[in-house]
Amino acid sequence: MNILVINAGSSSLKYQLIFMETESILAKGLCERIGSDGSNIEQKAKGKLYRKELPLRDHVDAFNALIAALTDAEYGVLTDLSSIGAVGHRVVHGGEAFSGSVRIDGAVMRALRDNIPLAPLHNPANITGIEACMAVMPNTPMIAVFDTAFHQTMPRRAYLYGLPYELYERLKIRRYGFHGTSHRYVSQRAAHLIGKPVEQLKLITCHMGNGSSITAVDGGKSVDTSMGLTPLEGVIMGTRSGDADPAIVQMLCNADGISVDDALSIFNKKSGLLGLTGGKYSDWRDVKQGAQSGEEEAVRAAEVFAYRVKKYIGAYIAAMNGVDAIIFTAGIGENDAYARSLILSGLEWLGIELDADRNQTREEAFIQADSSRVKLLVVPTNEELAIARDTLELV
Ligand code: ADP
Repeated sequence: MNILVINAGSSSLKYQLIFMETESILAKGLCERIGSDGSNIEQKAKGKLYRKELPLRDHVDAFNALIAALTDAEYGVLTDLSSIGAVGHRVVHGGEAFSGSVRIDGAVMRALRDNIPLAPLHNPANITGIEACMAVMPNTPMIAVFDTAFHQTMPRRAYLYGLPYELYERLKIRRYGFHGTSHRYVSQRAAHLIGKPVEQLKLITCHMGNGSSITAVDGGKSVDTSMGLTPLEGVIMGTRSGDADPAIVQMLCNADGISVDDALSIFNKKSGLLGLTGGKYSDWRDVKQGAQSGEEEAVRAAEVFAYRVKKYIGAYIAAMNGVDAIIFTAGIGENDAYARSLILSGLEWLGIELDADRNQTREEAFIQADSSRVKLLVVPTNEELAIARDTLELV
């Protein structure tokens, strides 16, 4: 069966068409600038690049453009729409309503709308994407796969904030966590590589990209994760602050006469690596290059980044009463030996020892020293494949 995986943003739409019998990617594409000038579609399939500038007024136009690209006589891979067996949609926030992937029906759409206050930027775009897809492919089964679902196994002690309990009951203010599809995929893959059932393992998964989150996976279940109500909490990221005292918001508003929205925009868009380098770099590759050539701003950003991740690793070892393996994934986690070595240095007392040569990998590999009690792994994530597998299972 061919499965179409959709990741819809407010002005973009990413897709992959996966042939499930061999789990191979038949086509991969991106519609950009939906709803504004210069909208376009780009697709890679059969080793060829298809690119077209065309007006995409809305997501329905984008779906029609991607169908045209997938069925194009020269650049396409399908003869017609009926060879798409099902569609898997990435949805950012499932709130407490979804602890796994689901087939989309009227009740699911209502629940997605109910969750908009929890993810005002992301969920409306995901809903628009699903509705547009349904308009273009009304007879194809659709599945929703949530970033939050894997973390619904977190115990109360991990998901509650120390706020009035009434706020949780009334507004559902609690910790949810994100990147769940990735944490689930790499924890299962790591268990396979270790050669033990995931139910018998205590794992810490470090998903480090532009957005980063760390998860404690005990017996295959998420028991704690660093992101919270929104993806702002946790470790520091490309432009996000991670954990910070909420009183800073009040101080900023008073000192600079700005609104709460403006203050939060500083936390989301001007902080993290970008903030710590004084506005110079949000991309880890630049931070690393700067740090290695001794640029003070980059050295301090790298220091804070690695220290925060290290603290979460320590906390999750305590939360699980041990750890069998620590897994690194996503843009920084998969590719960067320097980040991994900064994070893992000075943890020998916990039985964590990195092997400098093995750490040079950018592929799936064990990177611990022979004497390390804890296994260390690089496992490239594949959220699209995980979404496609869930979709296949549910249809
Ligand atoms: P997103 O959260 O947008 O999906 P990614 O997982 O693509 O992010 O990760 C982006 C981050 O990964 C950037 O900070 C980038 O610098 C870093 N990165 C990507 N490739 C490399 C590399 N070869 N070496 C070091 N860092 C890398």
